[in-house]
Amino acid sequence: MPKIMTRKKHLKCLFLFSGGLDSILGIEILRIQKNIKIVGLTFKSIFFDEILAKKMAKKISLSLKIVDISSDILKIVKKPKYGYGKGMNPCLDCRILMLKKAKEILKKERFDFIASGEVLGERPMTQNKFALNFVEKKSSLKEILLRPLSAKLLKETIFEKKGLIKRELLLDISGRSRKRQISLAKKFNLKNYPTPSGGCILTDINFSKKLKDLLNYYPQAKENDINLLKIGRHFWENKVKIVVGRNKEENKILKKLAKKSDFLIEMKNYPGPLTLIRNYRKRKIFNQILEKAKKLTQYYSPKTRKRKDIKFKIKKIESC
Ligand code: SF4
Repeated sequence: MPKIMTRKKHLKCLFLFSGGLDSILGIEILRIQKNIKIVGLTFKSIFFDEILAKKMAKKISLSLKIVDISSDILKIVKKPKYGYGKGMNPCLDCRILMLKKAKEILKKERFDFIASGEVLGERPMTQNKFALNFVEKKSSLKEILLRPLSAKLLKETIFEKKGLIKRELLLDISGRSRKRQISLAKKFNLKNYPTPSGGCILTDINFSKKLKDLLNYYPQAKENDINLLKIGRHFWENKVKIVVGRNKEENKILKKLAKKSDFLIEMKNYPGPLTLIRNYRKRKIFNQILEKAKKLTQYYSPKTRKRKDIKFKIKKIESC
């Protein structure tokens, strides 16, 4: 149990802030206590960004820390201890990771407790009672993790027990209905708040399928390989990946992502897509693969599909 000075008047809270309505309301509920200094903490990675959190933090005058957890989350995605959701989203492992990171900051910067906008029963995988208690235990935050929106339905934190946080000012929201959150938003005069939609690409079924294929063929995948999955049309040919850009913007990104030993293919005499070949076999690229990439490049330029006079430019990337 953490040591608490009962005379302590002001508390420092590190709030896991996503920028969604629940996390905004969690902050507003804590602000009613008057004796808590709140700093937001948000995470960014190759699978989700910090843009919404940044925008909403500014709107509600919340100072915000942003931490990049790309390499940690990639390790977890490859081998989660507690499994995946519907897509390749290892939510329980991810929550534990985020809370552990928050705890490191708590210790280093002398925060008193961690809070989040989680609502009991709102998300089946991560916000049922078992999951909330489980991640709290696994991240060693027993008694110092507060969920203000559902606090009255959960075990008391040490600060509530000592009377430093008034439990009567905390809430007892549970379930998937958003009615109470919407009426609270009105009460706090919150307008244009974001609708609940996960900004995490790991919950996207199409992306997850591509990611699963990649990890099957190439378990050592790095950030660049993941970023490649976010754009273009993807094809596999014997452990070799072919990605065809869908527009100018994607062609530009493909060029940027190309790394040593990749091939870039485009039509010399007509406009069209840029195609990247990445060889995960680490053996010689066969002509057959180059031919397939050329065909795809031509096929995805509908105006040139039937032409017989196409000339191709093929470039092998020699250095990063
Ligand atoms: S949806 Fe994504 S960011 Fe959210 S807990 Fe799951 S894996 Fe983590």
